[in-house]
Amino acid sequence: MKLTTGGVCKSGGSWKNHTGTWRVFRPVLDEEKCIGCGYCETFCPEATVEVQGNIAVFDYTYCKGCGICQQECPVEAIEMKEEDELEKEGEK
Ligand code: SF4
Ligand code: SF4
Repeated sequence: MKLTTGGVCKSGGSWKNHTGTWRVFRPVLDEEKCIGCGYCETFCPEATVEVQGNIAVFDYTYCKGCGICQQECPVEAIEMKEEDELEKEGEK
């Protein structure tokens, strides 16, 4: 068996990696539809969505745009929009 050289990554976890910088899709909330159930908060793998005052609030610095929150939302209050399109529309 051939052994290869390895290394140790610095500690810090995902909070040091701004995963939002490479996001292709962004979750956009329809506040009229959101019922504050917290499913999105429960299932988000990056812990970047939090229900505040009965409304889901996204932290786009770390949201990687995976769309799990959209899939789990029972009232279809989240739409995944392309970052490029949002930029063209001036919504970024
Ligand atoms: S798109 Fe993914 S990372 Fe972003 S808030 Fe939804 S579940 Fe979390
Ligand atoms: S899962 Fe949908 S309805 Fe529930 S808090 Fe999140 S966005 Fe709002």
